[in-house]
Amino acid sequence: MMIGSRLEALVSSQAARTPTADALVCEDQRLTYKELDDRSNQLARLLLSLDCRVGDRVCLFMPKGIDAIVAMLATLKSGAAYVPVDLESPAIRARRILDACSPTVIVVADEGCRLLDELLDHAGQKPAIVASGPDSLSAQNFRSNGSFADLDALSAAPVQKDVGDEDTAHILFTSGSTGTPKGVVITHRNVVGFLHWATSYFGVCAGDRISGHPPLHFDLSTFDIYGSLATGATLHLVPQKLNLLAPRLAAWMRDSELTQWFSVPSILTYMANFDAVKQDDFPHLQRLIWCGEVLPTPTLMYWMERLPHVTFTNLYGPTEATIASSYYTVPHIPADETEDIPIGSACEGEELLVLDENLEPAPAHEIGDLYIRGIGLSPGYWQDDEKTRAVFVQHPASDDAADLIYRTGDLARIDEHGLFRYLGRADSQIKSRGHRIELGEIETALNTLDYVHECAVVGVDSGGFEGTSICCAFVTDKDADVTPVMLRKDLAALVPRYMIPAQWMDMAALPKNANGKIDRSNIRGIFEDELRAKKNNQGRSVAR
Ligand code: AMP
Repeated sequence: MMIGSRLEALVSSQAARTPTADALVCEDQRLTYKELDDRSNQLARLLLSLDCRVGDRVCLFMPKGIDAIVAMLATLKSGAAYVPVDLESPAIRARRILDACSPTVIVVADEGCRLLDELLDHAGQKPAIVASGPDSLSAQNFRSNGSFADLDALSAAPVQKDVGDEDTAHILFTSGSTGTPKGVVITHRNVVGFLHWATSYFGVCAGDRISGHPPLHFDLSTFDIYGSLATGATLHLVPQKLNLLAPRLAAWMRDSELTQWFSVPSILTYMANFDAVKQDDFPHLQRLIWCGEVLPTPTLMYWMERLPHVTFTNLYGPTEATIASSYYTVPHIPADETEDIPIGSACEGEELLVLDENLEPAPAHEIGDLYIRGIGLSPGYWQDDEKTRAVFVQHPASDDAADLIYRTGDLARIDEHGLFRYLGRADSQIKSRGHRIELGEIETALNTLDYVHECAVVGVDSGGFEGTSICCAFVTDKDADVTPVMLRKDLAALVPRYMIPAQWMDMAALPKNANGKIDRSNIRGIFEDELRAKKNNQGRSVAR
C-alpha cells in the first residue's frame, strides 16, 4: 500500500482488481467491489450537484450499514470530509456537532430521521439533505434534495477532483471535558500511514473475512473499513442488535467464518462472562485484535485457552494519533490472572515517548507522560486552536515548529524489555464499554440542572463488562425532592446514554480537601467500597 494515496483511490484500485468479489456484507445485504465503486461514484455526483466542494463537510446520520459506507466513499470522492454522527446522541449534543461542522450536505437514513428532524427545526442553517431510505422523505422539518432511489439514473463513471492525501478524510467527535464534543480531524495520510503498517503486519488480503464491530463514529472502524476494502477482503458488519446477545454473536461469528476480529475489549469480556466460546471455536479465525482499553487478563486467558489456533494482538492508541500507535502480539497464554499485558512497541511510522513534566525523557523504566509522534498525528481539533495547542506540542529536541508530539494523557513506562506499559490516565478521562468519556462533560451537563447544587462524577473500576463504572455524588435542593430516576431522565436529554452514571449518592455536602476543592478520591473510595460489597454478594466472574 502506497503512502501518498487517498482512501477512496485505494478502494477504487481494488475494485478494478477484484470487481466481482464481495466487498461488504451486512445481514442479508451484500455488495461487490464493482457495485460499491459504481454506487459511490453515483452518490458523489449527487453530492457535487448539491454544491459539495473540496474541503466541505458531509454529515452522516446513518447507522452502521452498507449505505453508510457508500456515503463515506462518495463523500471522499467528492473531495469533502465526512462526519459520522452518533444516532444515540441526544439532540442538543448532535446539534453542537452539526453547528460546529456546518455541513454542505447531510445524508440521512430512516434511522437518523427523527434526530435530524429535531435538529433542523431549530438550526438556522439549511444544508442540502440526501435521503438513503424512503421514510426520510416524510420528515416534518426538512425535505430531501436528493435520494438514493435516484442514484441509478446517474453516471457511475469516476469523478475527477483536484485533491491530495493531506486533505481531511473525516472528523470524529469525542467527549470534551467542558461539555462540547471535540472534533478530531483525520487526514487521508493519517489513515493510510496506519494501514500501510497494519495490513502488512497482519497480512490482510483478498479472501479475508473481517469483522466490522465498532460503530462508525469510533476511529477503530476505519481500520476495518479501509483495511478490508483496500486489500480485497470482505467486511462483515456486525449487526448492532447482537451486541447484547453473546451466544447469538458467537453464532454469527461462526456463520460468517471470520478470519479477523477487531473490537474494544468489553465485548470480549461480555462473551467470556457468558461462556459463549467453545473449545477450538471459529476455525477460520486467524487473528483477534483489541484496542481502546485494557483487556482484563482473565478475559485474554479465556479466549487464548479456547482458541489456540488464533494470534492475539493488543493495539494501543488514541483517536488523535489515528486508530493505533503501538502493538503487542501476546506470545503465550499468561501464567496468571494478575499478569499485565504490555502495549508493546511503536507501529512503523510512529514513535512513543515517555517524558517527565519538563518534556525530558523519564528515567529508565520510570513512569511518565506518554506522548506520540509520527504519521498518524491528527492536524488537531476542528476549529479549536486553543485545545489543539494544549496537547499537540513541539518536540522538545526539535527546532522545527511543525515537528509535533501529542500528549495522550496516559501514564506509561518502558519495561526492562523495551516494551511500553500502560499505567492509567493522568486526568479524568475514562473508558466505559469502549466509549471515551470525559467525566467533566457529565458534570457540566448535571450542573445545568437547576436543582443540582453540587456534583462530582468519578470512575470506579468495576472489573466486569463495563470496565469503569460511572458514579455520581450529588447535592440538591432538598425541597425539590430529587431522585436518581429524575436525575437520570433529565441527564439523558443532555448526554448519550453510555454517559449516564450507574451509581448515585445523595449527599448533604460533598467532601472537600484542605484547599476547599471537592475531594474526588474520598468520593471514589466510598463508591469503591459499595461496589466491592455488591460484587461480593453477586460473586460473578469470567468463566474459566
Ligand atoms: P480513543 O481515542 O477512544 O481511542 O481513546 C484513547 C485512549 O484509550 C488512550 O489514550 C488510552 O487511555 C485508552 N487506550 C487505547 N488503547 C488502549 C490499550 N490497548 N490499552 C489500554 N488503554 C488503551
